[in-house]
Formats: sequence, structure tokens, C-alpha cells
Amino acid sequence: MPAPKPSAKPIAKPDTKPLSAPQKALRKLGLDRDIDLALHLPLRYEDETRIVRLADTREGDMAQIEATVVSCEIAYKPRRQLLVVVDDGSDTCTLRFFSFYPSQQKALAVGNRLRLRGEVKGGFMGRTMMHPSFHMAGGELPNALTPVYPTSAGLPQVYLRKAVHSGLVHAARQGAFVETIPPEHMPRSAMGAGAKAWGLAQSLHFLHHPTPDVSLAQLEDRTHPAWQRLKAEELLAQQLSQLQSKRAREELRAPALVLKKGGLHEQLLGVLPFGLTGAQRRVGEEIALDLMRQVPMHRLLQGDVGSGKTVVAALAAAVAMDGGWQCALMAPTEILAEQHFRKLIGWLEPLLTPLGKRVAWLTGSQKKKERTEMLGLIASGEAALVVGTHAVIQEQVQFKNLALAIIDEQHRFGVAQRLALREKMLTHDGSPEQEPHMLMMSATPIPRTLAMSYYADLDVSTLDELPPGRTPVVTKLVSESRRDELIERIRHQLDEGRQVYWVCPLIEESEALDLTNATETHALLTEALNPPGVKPVLVGLLHSRMPPADKKAVMAQFESGAMGVLVSTTVIEVGVDVPNASLMVIEHAERFGLSQLHQLRGRVGRGAAASACVLMYATGESGRVSETARERLRAMVETSDGFEIARRDLEIRGPGEFLGARQSGAALLRFADLAEDGELLQWARELAPLMLDKYPELAERHVSRWLGGKSDFLKA
Ligand code: ADP
Ligand code: MG
Repeated sequence: MPAPKPSAKPIAKPDTKPLSAPQKALRKLGLDRDIDLALHLPLRYEDETRIVRLADTREGDMAQIEATVVSCEIAYKPRRQLLVVVDDGSDTCTLRFFSFYPSQQKALAVGNRLRLRGEVKGGFMGRTMMHPSFHMAGGELPNALTPVYPTSAGLPQVYLRKAVHSGLVHAARQGAFVETIPPEHMPRSAMGAGAKAWGLAQSLHFLHHPTPDVSLAQLEDRTHPAWQRLKAEELLAQQLSQLQSKRAREELRAPALVLKKGGLHEQLLGVLPFGLTGAQRRVGEEIALDLMRQVPMHRLLQGDVGSGKTVVAALAAAVAMDGGWQCALMAPTEILAEQHFRKLIGWLEPLLTPLGKRVAWLTGSQKKKERTEMLGLIASGEAALVVGTHAVIQEQVQFKNLALAIIDEQHRFGVAQRLALREKMLTHDGSPEQEPHMLMMSATPIPRTLAMSYYADLDVSTLDELPPGRTPVVTKLVSESRRDELIERIRHQLDEGRQVYWVCPLIEESEALDLTNATETHALLTEALNPPGVKPVLVGLLHSRMPPADKKAVMAQFESGAMGVLVSTTVIEVGVDVPNASLMVIEHAERFGLSQLHQLRGRVGRGAAASACVLMYATGESGRVSETARERLRAMVETSDGFEIARRDLEIRGPGEFLGARQSGAALLRFADLAEDGELLQWARELAPLMLDKYPELAERHVSRWLGGKSDFLKA
């Protein structure tokens, strides 16, 4: 046996060598460990194993040929380009390069024999290839398909390919691919020929370097047993991790909160200006039952925009405060937090004052003096309820006895932030082993069945009923060219005493451009709506770069009704509640995501007046509306049911992206696709408890292989 190598890093010495750009890019993609690289699977493949004859190619083929240059010249019409004709003996092909270096031109000199790869196009010049890749002919042909990996800027495919390959080899050598799924429990879809399941190592080697005889279709639609094996692994890891955290949570203690007769809960019900909907009552009971247990609640309250989640949260808070405990309500934006604060103060302060308690307010932009005062109230316990933004989870904030943490629009928060709130617990009260109950709220409903089976460690309550008296919002698609008619329409709304939102487009590449756009629209509307001799209309502007105090002032004017039109970037997306607003115009609606459009639309139709949402889309050169954008707009017109919207969104985008981006800020599932892999998910759900009970070590190894340090992502 070779002597063990001295450990490379006996003491943690700071690594002074700066990372190269591709190394940094690898880090950014989360490809740190060998195993991470090995699990970075190709998006698709290129077949470089064969040289084909030009005569045998068809339009649209990705082809690799070997041919001799017969002419090479620069043409100037219709624009400057290098035109190269090659001949492989079976036919000729014209290569076109619109950008080229002198060195490339030299390599393409007449008489040179080249190996070329590119897409074959027909056309009136005969076969052509645009910007094919090429090098000198000859050299060995690979005997496996060439993988093409998901990558990012600054990380060339060739570099990534090498890194992945070396990760794969190292990980295999370290024994990283030992089997963890008990053989008798292999999923059927991972069985290959002879009903033998594909091994993990075998599957990975195959997927990185598949032999050319394999069905590309099976690889691409991921039905090949090797793919099935990997998806099964991934789903099992996810289920195991959630189940572990669920079991761990069941071991923890939380204050058992009781619903007192005649207590705050009942009093709050008494002062509300409306009766609860059936759904609110049912969900309220589900939450109350959780709170009564000594185990920390971990519940997602999902409900469409406007379904009335805030009241449900307030009622839960009342239960906790009644027992002398504290509650925290955290919202993602200052505007939203402020709205909650004002609403909750209105409902609760009259009830809390006789008890000597208050509602505290915390945000990042607060004056130091006020902040210090609030921190004091929170630490002493005088603040029974704390409402705020991220500021609520900052270090200086010390609760006396936090029993319930409520997170509004939870998908807007990162996992770390949710964990931080959970950890703000009872250390001051001498019982550090206690955790607060957690109520997470989201208006981005996940189709219920999906939520239930995917989040093994989350109980889900659903508000599936809107408060009565709402008039449905009429949604219309209008081309940009009809802006003038819209202005008429706005004027009409204003004459009726109503208010209008005008949402400006999202330009992903540039916040500065967003701003210009909103500013211009603001100026334009101000002018158009204020012709001389007419009662002036106040048009406001709201965007994310404004100082919080200015934002607050603008919102206050709009809420009071003094402002007729609010032009805004998407800062109003969440939660804003101005029932008198009855028209929303969304500019460049084609650029917004479906759930975002739905959330925006939810800002109108909150009062009794008939409301409308106008989705304005670009025409002509500036904005070709893609097919998926069209589908999104169609869905918006056809339905206003949040769950149906969620279902369509899932269909259009695929659930990996849906859940990943929406629910946690990190892509959770890389390989499995919940819409297609329901059977595998079911398999994983059934196997997970069995593995934890019968094969705990295998389960542990499985989770750490897949999630490494990232398992917290799945727990929150
Ligand atoms: P969301 O679920 O989008 O957070 P909110 O909690 O902001 O919805 O409620 C939307 C509006 O409906 C608020 O103005 C709220 O006061 C009102 N509301 C809530 N519940 C009821 C109800 N049962 N009856 C009438 N109005 C209600
Ligand atoms: Mg809300």
C-alpha cells in the first residue's frame, strides 16, 4: 500500500492565489466539490464522432465535414463578410463569416484542408454554413458524444468540460458513487436491459460521455434509464432531507398557545369591519390547532391576491399575544410592511393598550432614536407585536419571548432570512430549546397537490375563496399603438373619482433604463392629463431607487386619494391595498412573468367598483412578442383564478424553475421535473421514511452527497 500522502492543508492557511475568471465562474455556479462537478450534467450533446459527406446532409443538420478550401474572399455586399467555399469531394459549401480576424482568414486560405462543424443551410447560393467552428483536418475522432454543459459568462465550454471530467474521475476514485439506494427498492424506470438497474457511477459516466449509438431522443427527453436513475437520486435526497427536518422539528418544543374565551382573538373578531369568509374561518382553525401543540408550527398559508391573508395572520397573532407572548410579522418591502403596520395598529392597538402592550415598527430606514426606542420595547416585551422589513431579523433585535413568526410574501425572502427569524427565539427566557411557530404566507399559489407532495416538511393551508362583494377584473390586451385611447379611459376613471395605476416595464438588463422609462411616462401622463383649463390631476411616480421617505410620501398621497394616477416600476407588486383604484395599465406586459402579472392585477378590483386591467404589448421592431409571452398574456385574459394561473405557469415554464425560483431563491431540483416525474416523486416519498428507519446511514450518505452543505435550502 502506498504511504498516505501528507495532508495538503494541515492548517487552514489563507489561499492567497487569486482565482482565475473561469474558477470564479465555477464557484458561482456552485461547482465547488468534485461531486458537484460530477453532478453537473449536460444540457445536450454534439455528435463529433463522425465525418459526414456534404452530399448526404440536409437543411438544418448540425454536420461535421472535412473539406478543402477552394476560394476565400472578402465581399462587401450586402455587408462586409468573408466568403469561403469548401469542397469535400461530394459537394461544395459556402462558409460565411461576418466577423473574422486576420489569423482566421489565414487558416481559411485556399488549399487548406479543414474539419468543420456547423449548421447546414440551403439557399440560393447552394449549401452554406454561418460561422462554423473549424480547425485543421485530421486528428482522432472522439468515440463518445460531446457534452454541452449549462454554463455562464466567463466559463468557456472547453474549460468546463475538462473541469467536469476531472471532477467525475476524482469523485469516482474517492468512492463518491457508492450505492445508497437499497437494490430491492430501485425504481422501475431506472431498469435497463435484463431488468438490471443502472448503477449511479455507470449512469453518470454514461450521461457525461454517451456512446454514439444511443437514442438522442431518450437522452434529450430524459427518459433514458440513466437519467431516470439520477432523477430518482435527486428526488430521494430532497424527500429524505425534508423528512429529516420534519422529524427533527417534531422533537423541538414551542409554546403551546391556547384560544381563550373572551380573549384577544374574540375581541379582534368583534372589531373587524367584516365577517370572515368560510375559507378564512377554516384556515384559522387549522392554524389554531397547530398553535395549541407543543411542536413548532411550520405552515404555508397560500391564497390568491386579495383573499384576505392579513386578517388570518392577525388572528393567529392575537392568540399568541393573549398568552403574553410576542409575535413578529416580516414583509419584503417597506411599503408593504408599513401598510400592515397601519392596518394592524388600527385593529389591535385599542385592544392592546388596556393590557399595557404596543405594536412596534422596525425598518432599515428608521431614525436612530425611534429605532432605539423600538428595540427597547421589543426587548422588554412591551411590544407584543413587531411589524417590519428585514430589519426584524437583524442582530440588535432581541425579543423577550417570541412565539410566532409570520412571514408575508415568503417567496420574496431568501432561505437564510427565514432561518434567521426562526432562530430569534426564546434565549432570553431561559428556555433556549424552544422555537417559535412559523406561519409563511404566499400569494403565489403552488398547485396544491404539488405543494403537498413536494414539501414533505410543510403543512399547507389554502384560502380558496375571495371575500364577497368583489367585482371581477376585466382584463384586456391592447397594442401599444392605442396609447391615446388609454389616456381617454384614464381621464374617464378620474372623472368618476377613481384612481389608476400605471406600471412601467421591467427592463432586466438595466435598472437605469427602467427608471428613464418610468420618468418619461410620468412626464407624458402628467402633460396629457393636465390640459389647460381643466382641474389638475396629480400624477405620482414611484420607483425602487427612491429614498424610503419619498416612497412613503407618494404612497400616502395615493392612499388618501389626493393622487389620481400612480406611475410606478414594479415596486407596487406586492400587497398594496388601495380599494379605490379601479384601473391598472401594464406597459410592455409581454416582458413580465405570469405570476407577476397576476400579482399586479390583484392591486385592482379590491373595492365594489368594476375594475379593469389593461395589458399593453409592444408591436413592430422594438418588441416581437414571443410565443411563451403570448401564452402568458392569453392566460391572463382567460382566467383570474390564482390557482389556474399557477397551473398555467407551471405548464409554460416547467416546475423546476417554478418552484426553484419562486419558493426559495435557489433551484432545488435540477434534473427531475415534477410535472413529468410524478411517479418517481411518489416512489421517493414512499422510500424516504423506510430508509430513515431501516438504513439511516445510507440515508445520511445519500443526503450529504446530493445536498452537501446546501441541505438547509430544503429545510427552510
Ligand atoms: P392578501 O391575501 O392579498 O394579503 P389582504 O389581506 O390584503 O389580502 O386583504 C385584501 C382586502 O380584503 C383588504 O382590504 C382586507 O381588509 C379585505 N378583507 C379581508 N378579509 C375580508 C372579508 N372576510 N370580508 C371583506 N373584506 C375582507
Ligand atoms: Mg398580503
